[in-house]
Amino acid sequence: MKLFFYFIFIPNIIFSQSISDLKTRFDTYLNFNGSLNQSVSFTEKSVSIKNAGKSDFTVYEGEQEILTTLLKTKKTSEFITIYNWKKNNRLSKKQIDSLAKTISQVTYLSSTSLQGKRIAIDPGHFAGNMTDAKVEQKFIDFSPYSSNLLKDTIRFNEGTLTYQTATILKHKLEEQGAIVMVTRPQQNYTAFQITYDTWFVKRKKIVLDSLVKTNSMDSKRYAVLMKLPKQKLFWEFFRDFELGERARLINEFKPDATVIIHYNVDEKNTDWVNPTTKNYTMTFIGGGMTADNFSKTINKIHFLRLLLSDQLNQSEKLASLTVNQFNKELHIPIAQKHDADYLRDNCLKTPSSGVFCRNLALCRMINSPLVYGEALYQDNMKECNQLCKNDYEINNQKVPKRIYETAMCYYQALSAYFSKP
Ligand SMILES: [Zn+2]
Repeated sequence: MKLFFYFIFIPNIIFSQSISDLKTRFDTYLNFNGSLNQSVSFTEKSVSIKNAGKSDFTVYEGEQEILTTLLKTKKTSEFITIYNWKKNNRLSKKQIDSLAKTISQVTYLSSTSLQGKRIAIDPGHFAGNMTDAKVEQKFIDFSPYSSNLLKDTIRFNEGTLTYQTATILKHKLEEQGAIVMVTRPQQNYTAFQITYDTWFVKRKKIVLDSLVKTNSMDSKRYAVLMKLPKQKLFWEFFRDFELGERARLINEFKPDATVIIHYNVDEKNTDWVNPTTKNYTMTFIGGGMTADNFSKTINKIHFLRLLLSDQLNQSEKLASLTVNQFNKELHIPIAQKHDADYLRDNCLKTPSSGVFCRNLALCRMINSPLVYGEALYQDNMKECNQLCKNDYEINNQKVPKRIYETAMCYYQALSAYFSKP
């Protein structure tokens, strides 16, 4: 029988970090190539977010604990009220106490196993067939007629692979007593729990109408979007809108950790006729923010949560365990910064090999430690041959063996992550 220890979360006994600890976190993960130098300033006893040279919001020494707890337990929209109320004022003891009272008591389960752990899984994209995969532009379709490297046609889509990986991982985690949520309920479904086709036919008008009604969209954009065909609307609106829903579902679930599953391609293989010889594995976490991210208050709040909490440090740990599993078990070399343009131009390298800070919407919005995995290149010669055949059976489902192996890497990384006290 396993023993669990419960304790009530009292903010000021959990940790105490100095402003210089925050500066280290800022330099390590958040400040992309010095881009935030004008937007954030540190003194020995405070850190401020700036707007046109003036301080917009300041965190003073002694306020980190209460603000961190509020950032982790409140919805981002709720924290906007606190942000606009506090501004640069120093919180009094009385104010800290009354803010503490608004926090619902959080009970943490501190066992060192997967038992009772809440794990969110986001299988990237949604297409479960080639027609929808063409809307998302997330498929491999190599033909021996156009490629002299192939004997057979190779055809599959990323949305199916990520969903299969998520299903296997969910099953494995639940066997160990974890509580698991998956953002998409079935293959070919979006995070809105319906297919994109159904959303386009039945939900599009209702959603766009309500955005106009709440002043979140102007009538000009509304008119443009209403006329767009399915694929154009996906790129123009639905893609980002659905990512917001994924983050909302995950944050509502209050996970202990989140796994975002993707499969990569060689960015330079742009003619999409031949497989590539390249294959790299990598993982992303949040951070790597730039000054233009600060144009919206909501992003300043995401920044504050990432700065004040230890989520980035925890994400680095989880991501490092994951990418090392990919490397060891799938035998794929770990990507270095120079191996892809987006790693060189858009990402901040962390001290852990193969873990990069990248300011992707989900990496920024999700309120938990996370790993955004890009296990392998689907268009790699060897991989694409393995990914197009369902040669492995698990839980009465036939999948490519490679997908099973990838799911096990995530599983082993999560087990190791939670086994450390
Ligand atoms: Zn992807």
